[in-house]
Order: sequence, then structure tokens, then C-alpha cells
Amino acid sequence: MGGTVVQTEDVFRSANERIAHLVREHGWRFPVPFLCECADTHCFARLELTLEVYEDVRSNPQRYLTAPGHEIPAAKAIEPAGTFALVEKL
Ligand SMILES: [Zn+2]
Repeated sequence: MGGTVVQTEDVFRSANERIAHLVREHGWRFPVPFLCECADTHCFARLELTLEVYEDVRSNPQRYLTAPGHEIPAAKAIEPAGTFALVEKL
């Protein structure tokens, strides 16, 4: 087995990618619940976003979508206000 470490935020991110794929397939324009991508494995926060907003966040691979105040070690908060927050890995 390799030594690849799968980090929590990346597990949440791939789950969100599956949600986005579903939304894209159905052409849904309304906000749907995406998962908080913080580093807490027990986090069950949901963020209601339209696909458009989600894809805008995803256009920067360094960025993770989190509930306000949720954190990822070694990432800095870049947009603290609003219904969701963004953290960026350095
Ligand atoms: Zn969280």
C-alpha cells in the first residue's frame, strides 16, 4: 500500500463534487446543500449554495468551502463573512 494520506477536507470535497455533478445533470438552479469542507471528521454542517456559487469557489483548487468559523489546519480564512466562508491552503 502507498503512503497517501487522504485528508478529511478532501473527502468532503469529493463528496461535494458528486453533489455538483448531480445538480449539473439535472440542471437545478436552486441552492442545494453542500458539505462543509473543514478538517473535522464529525462536522455535519451543510451550506446551501447554487451550483454557480459552488463552481466559482471550486475554480480555485486551493480553496475550500467551510461553514463560518470552521477551520482547516494550515489554511487561512479569506472570506470570513456571509453564509459560508472560504479557506485557502498555502
Ligand atoms: Zn465544518
